[in-house]
Amino acid sequence: MNILVINCGSSSLKYQVIDSTSEKVLAKGLCERIGIDGRMNYTPAGGEKEVTEAPMPTHTEAVKMVLEALVNEKTGVLKSLDEIDAVGHRIVHGGEAFKQSVVITDEVLKSVEECNDLAPLHNPANIIGINACKELMPNVPMVGVFDTAFHANMPAKAYMYAVPYKYYEDYKVRRYGFHGTSHSYVSQRVADILGKPYDNLKTIVCHLGNGASVSAVKDGVSVDTSMGLSPLEGLIMGTRSGDIDPSAIEFIAKKEGMDISQALNMLNKESGMLGLSGISSDFRDILAAIENGDEKAKIALEAFCYRVAKYVGAYAAAMNGVDAIAFTAGIGENNNYVRSKVCEYFGYLGVKIDEDVNNNTGDEAIISTPDSGVKVLVVATNEELAIARETEALVK
Ligand code: AMP
Repeated sequence: MNILVINCGSSSLKYQVIDSTSEKVLAKGLCERIGIDGRMNYTPAGGEKEVTEAPMPTHTEAVKMVLEALVNEKTGVLKSLDEIDAVGHRIVHGGEAFKQSVVITDEVLKSVEECNDLAPLHNPANIIGINACKELMPNVPMVGVFDTAFHANMPAKAYMYAVPYKYYEDYKVRRYGFHGTSHSYVSQRVADILGKPYDNLKTIVCHLGNGASVSAVKDGVSVDTSMGLSPLEGLIMGTRSGDIDPSAIEFIAKKEGMDISQALNMLNKESGMLGLSGISSDFRDILAAIENGDEKAKIALEAFCYRVAKYVGAYAAAMNGVDAIAFTAGIGENNNYVRSKVCEYFGYLGVKIDEDVNNNTGDEAIISTPDSGVKVLVVATNEELAIARETEALVK
């Protein structure tokens, strides 16, 4: 089956075509600056990346360009659009309505729309992407894969905020968690790599990218995760603050004359590693600054690792033990210092890192020593493949 995987942002659209039998990527790319001017990049498997600049007033034009590129006589990877068997859409927020992936129907779309309130920056873009595909491929089945779904079975003690209960009853204010597709994919890979049953394993997944979250996966179920109602809670991220005393927000807002949305914008866009270091949200820049003796960059990096370690420690307690700790996403997969530094906090659990392996990992590796009390792994996440698998399973 050929599955087109679509991940829409407010002005972007990432795509891949995956052959679900071989699990190979046939083509992939990104449309950017939708609604501004429009640029598409397209890379067929084994071919060169092409960049096309063309007006993309809406996501519909972007999808149209992607489809044209896929069937292009010279560089296309499909003979005709009939070769697309299904489309898998990443949807950020499924609220309490969606505990797993679903085939998209008009009714489903209505329920997704009802979650817009909970993810006003993301869900409307996801819906636009779905509608654009519906318009251009009306007969192709589509599946929605939710970032929140993997965390939907957390116990109430993990998802309730200690605010008046009526806010949960009236508005569904609670922890939902995100990056679920990644946490699910990586925790399953950990079980495969270790040759252990997924339903009898305690794994802590550290998804450390520009957005970052930790999850506790016990017997195949996410029992806690660090992001909350929105992706702002939890770890220190590229530009997001993560956990902060809400009183500090009021204090800063009063001093600076900010309203709530300005304060939230500051916490989402100007904080985290960028805010702390004053240099960049990108870890490569942070590392370069540390090399040059920058003290704030050093504190930012130490604070980042410390926050990750605190969550890992908390989740070891939440699961009454931990068999494996996995690092994934841009930083988790590429930054040996962060992995090593985080694991230093777990000497008491008998965690021992083989620094030679840690310094030279590929996509996947066990970086702990054979006698380590907990296995520590690097696993390259693959959300697109996970979405393709879910899509195939539902439309087959
Ligand atoms: P993601 O959101 O998963 O794409 O991750 C983005 C983050 O990963 C950025 O902070 C990058 O600096 C970081 N990153 C990507 N590649 C590397 C690398 N080779 N070394 C260190 N950090 C990296």
